Amino acid sequence: MSEELSKELKAAGLDLLSCMQCGTCTGSCPSGRHTGLNTRRILRDARKNRVAVLSDDALWLCTTCYTCQERCPRDIPITDALLELRRLAIKEGFMLPEHRRISEMVAECGHAVPLDEETKHKREELGLDPIPETVQKYSEALQEVRSLLKACKFDELTAEN
Ligand code: SF4
Ligand code: SF4
Repeated sequence: MSEELSKELKAAGLDLLSCMQCGTCTGSCPSGRHTGLNTRRILRDARKNRVAVLSDDALWLCTTCYTCQERCPRDIPITDALLELRRLAIKEGFMLPEHRRISEMVAECGHAVPLDEETKHKREELGLDPIPETVQKYSEALQEVRSLLKACKFDELTAEN
């Protein structure tokens, strides 16, 4: 699949070929200011079918703020390409443990950060229903979420290999 990386992206409507490596994306990236995320380099590597890009932890440091995509002078769908690269990375078994854990929580509770007892108690103190109107309150709704996740193979994709 590695040599097909740019073809996969193109098939998803994400053509990176017009990137001129100007670096506006990297210079605009709020996450890259504090981490090793270098969008320009990731796009270059993806364009050159360098499979290492899929196992690059930096791929997971994007907060999907879309600043780079809005500023790209070549209108390259940068954030969308990063998300597609993550999807391809997961298919190859690459995912940060933290993201895997969050995926498990979504599959289990329907929330990345489920409500804990302390929060429920604080809500009660404020005169609120301890559990808000979410899938955590309705077991049948949670079952529906789980069915949807199963139907799109979310659980298989995010399971540890
Ligand atoms: S801003 Fe656009 S053209 Fe410039 S390096 Fe990033 S993706 Fe390429
Ligand atoms: S979408 Fe991701 S890569 Fe782009 S500027 Fe925001 S954090 Fe950086």
